[in-house]
Amino acid sequence: MKRILAGLISLSVLATGHEAEAASCKINVSYNKQFYKIEGLPIANKQYGMAKSYHPGANKTMIRSYQKMRAAALKKGIVLDVVGTPGAYGYRSYAVQKQLYNDYINLYGFSYASKISAKPGTSEHQLGLAMDIRDGTNYGTLNTAFEYTAASKFIRENGQRYGFIVRYLKGKEAITGFMYEPWHIRYVGVTHATRIKKDNITLEEYLGIAGRRKLSAGQYQVNGALCKYKR
Ligand SMILES: [Zn+2]
Repeated sequence: MKRILAGLISLSVLATGHEAEAASCKINVSYNKQFYKIEGLPIANKQYGMAKSYHPGANKTMIRSYQKMRAAALKKGIVLDVVGTPGAYGYRSYAVQKQLYNDYINLYGFSYASKISAKPGTSEHQLGLAMDIRDGTNYGTLNTAFEYTAASKFIRENGQRYGFIVRYLKGKEAITGFMYEPWHIRYVGVTHATRIKKDNITLEEYLGIAGRRKLSAGQYQVNGALCKYKR
């Protein structure tokens, strides 16, 4: 069964034109009762949730990297701003996410709300490793027109140098479960970000978990882009 699934996944990977020579490798999934890690990388998505009580605040390394990225952008006259509570660097607790999610459901209904907002306990913002960016010279915020701003261009082209990826890509909605969100960046560190950017893939494709059932703690054979680097 596993082999059949793996075959199906590599077919779908071929169909999207990426990773024609996708290698197979073992990945390590762990859960510390607060959040999941895959190959040491904290993960939060529609499948991999966090404990309600997990309340880390924004990751300090991420904040430092963001500040470096912001300074580099500023040198070119580009202003990056983080959306949300000043000084929170994108961090949202379970309770705040719950409020936001319920507001979206009331506004738009469940189906649309679930494509634009994470269910409480599954948001990368609760993980403390994601931020929503706006262009500080532009009043528009959190809509796809952001992609036409200098700030968006800057994070698309240079984010990986500071360890960031644009997390919810255009055309990858079926994999991430989210609409295209050019403003949402995730910190994964420079090494992973550089590889992910090079292949223009999602974190799920990189880790080899796209299209798979949720994996519990353990080791699994996958076809992920990271396999190319694991030998
Ligand atoms: Zn976001």
